[in-house]
This record gives sequence, C-alpha cells and structure tokens, in this order.
Amino acid sequence: MKEKKRLSLPAWIGIAMIAGIVLGGILWAAMGADAADSFTTSYIKPFGTIFINLLKFVVVPVVVLSIIDGIVSMKDIKKVGAIGWKTVVYFLVTTAIACIIGLVIANIFKPAFPVLQMAEDQAYEAATSSLMDTIVNIFPSNLWESLRTASMLQVIVIALLFGAGILLAGEAGKIAADIVSSFYAVMMKVMMFIINVSPIGVFCLMTWVVASQGPKILTSLAIVLGAAYLGYILHGILVYSASVKVFAGMSPLQFFKGIFPAMIFAFSSTSSIATLPISKECCDKMGCDSEVSSFVLPLGATINMDGTAIYQCVAAIFIACCMGIQLTVGQMVMIVVTATLASIGTAGTSGAGMIMLAMVLQAVNIDPIYIGLIYGIDRLFDMGRTTLNVIGDASCAICVDRWQTKEKGKKAAVSK
Ligand code: ASP
Repeated sequence: MKEKKRLSLPAWIGIAMIAGIVLGGILWAAMGADAADSFTTSYIKPFGTIFINLLKFVVVPVVVLSIIDGIVSMKDIKKVGAIGWKTVVYFLVTTAIACIIGLVIANIFKPAFPVLQMAEDQAYEAATSSLMDTIVNIFPSNLWESLRTASMLQVIVIALLFGAGILLAGEAGKIAADIVSSFYAVMMKVMMFIINVSPIGVFCLMTWVVASQGPKILTSLAIVLGAAYLGYILHGILVYSASVKVFAGMSPLQFFKGIFPAMIFAFSSTSSIATLPISKECCDKMGCDSEVSSFVLPLGATINMDGTAIYQCVAAIFIACCMGIQLTVGQMVMIVVTATLASIGTAGTSGAGMIMLAMVLQAVNIDPIYIGLIYGIDRLFDMGRTTLNVIGDASCAICVDRWQTKEKGKKAAVSK
C-alpha cells in the first residue's frame, strides 16, 4: 500500500498563516475594523494566548538547562581552557557586534514600522531603570524568586554559576550533570511538542492581527523581514570576512565557498544542530584540525547564534514600535545584553530563537503575546538566522584553529 505523504510542520505553519490572513481579512472587510477587533479579541485571540503561555512556560527551564548543559559539555575546563577561552571570547564579541548591527538597522527602519491601533488599548510601558540598577539586578539574591518571576538575566547568571559549579565539583558533580542532561532532553521534547501545535497558535494570532489591523500589516511584515535580512548579510560580510582574513589569513571568498554546502543545508533545515555534520566536513576540508572543529562547532551550535541575536533585536524594536513604546538608550542596552544572552540560551533547533524572543521582550516589560505579530513568518526569519549562525560557528573554528597553530609554532620555536 502506498504510504500517505504527510505535510511538514513548516508547511502547516504556512497554511495556518495564510488561512489566518484570509479569515482575518474577511472579518475585517465584513464586520468593519472595530467589530472585527472585538470579536477576534474575545473569541479567537484567547487560543493564541494559550499557545504563547505555553511558550512562556517552557522558556525558563530550556534556558537554564541548555546553558548548564553547554558548560558541562566543555568537560574539563583546564583541558579545553586553551581552545575554550578563545572560542567563548570570539562568540561573545561577534554576538555583541551582531546585536549592535541589529539595533542600528532596526532604528534606521523604525520610521517604516507601523504604530498599531492596539497600542492605545494596552497600557504597556517599557520598564525604565538606570544602567546601574540594571547591572545590580542581574545578580540574583533568591533562587526561587528569580525562577518564579522569570527574571531572565538572573536566570542566566544562575545557570552559568551552576554550570561552572558542576564542572569544578568534578566526580561529585557527575550526578548533577547527568540529571541536567536528562532533564534537558525531556524539555527539548516538551518544546518540540509546543512547536508542533504552533499552527493552531499561528492561525488564531494571525486572524486576530489581520482582523484588528487590516491587511496593511502585511507590508510591515515584509519591511521587518527585509531589515533582518539586511542585518544578516551585513554581519556575514563585514564581521566574518574580516575575522577569517585578519585572524586566519584566509580569503573570504575561499571561506564562503568552503562553507557553502553547510549554508544551503542550514537555510533549508533551520537547525544548526542538524547542520553540524556538514559544517564539520566543510571546516575539515578547509584544513581545520578535527580536534578543534569537534569542540568549537557543537559548542557554537549550542551557544553561538549571531543570526538569532540580530533577529531578536530587530523583532524587539519592531514589536515595541507597533505597541507605540519609545525605548530609551538604557532599554536598548538591555536589549543588547538580553539578546546576547538569549541567543546563548537558544537551542540550535528550528524556531527556538522565536521562543527566546519572549525573554528579550520580558526584559523590557513588553507582553510576549505580541510575538504573534511576527510568528506566522518566523520560518522565513529562521532560514536566514540559522544560516548566519552556522557561518559564525565555522568562522570561529577556522580562526581558533589558526591561532592554535600559530601558538604551537611559537612554542616549538622557543623550545628549540
Ligand atoms: N534555528 C536556529 C538555529 O538552529 C535557532 C533559532 O531559532 O534562532 O540556529
């Protein structure tokens, strides 16, 4: 018997989005903006809210477990120290640059972003606090309180401390490490379940957005998508070309040619983790030491997400703009810090960066329900950001490999 071909999740999300746009458009045209808004807000949006609540529920455990697991996977800090610190510095610096590029581009595009009607209905105000307060508030004073209030920066500090503690405890920390990795595997399954029901959420949120805003919202979505892709391309060309040229002495053209198969796979699979074997093969073919690539690439696929960081900055500014919220410089800094950390906490799987966007929005006190504005086209954002994430990991592997070779060469010359 012929097996029936099942539609993939992205196909379902696409269908749900189009169905939501069509239904929203019909309601808007048939009932008028006000009646369509109140009808969809009362009867359709609540189902979208359930979906967003599930996303919020999963975000804290996934961040905590993925960061601890990422640190623990470094195994012996001393043994991997030499490669580890270079890798982590490279990841952090490039991700911070990615956030800045994202912020600058989003601010340039801001005049083209719409201020939506619903902004007036909602009394959301972005939290205002001084930079010093922000820094003090990063550090937790109570474990449960931080977890209960989903204070994301504190949650991340807690995860970093626990991860380091497990490593330093050595044998005694083994059970904790196993428990973390087991719970992480379980949480990933839970997250996948939530992602699998996302077409329902997408349909309800899209219907509500289009019914209350009218079809003009679609142009805005095209603009924000264009802004994110401009960020991806600029970061790829400026940062990675410069780093492979300066730190590894490799021509950018040669690098992009070498990593091209992984780029194609990342673009279509939207998962850095799934792309790992191909990225490794590409890096090894470009002359990267296998020991370096097998350390840097999996770590990068877990914690280095420059594309995700750009997306989160652009999306956060877009959503704030739609809500009519004027972000202060302090809040922009907050977005850079949380997007850097959120991208570290993002799993290298399809759609994960969008879940972490909830954390960036929460950090500046914006209700994550408004992720619904862009959720329907997340796959399109994800294709570009995953590609950039994968290029970033590969550029790091190439640079760290050349640094190591140079250092070894110097040591050998000194000992002669
Ligand atoms: N899909 C991305 C990746 O695998 C993560 C994200 O959703 O941002 O790198």
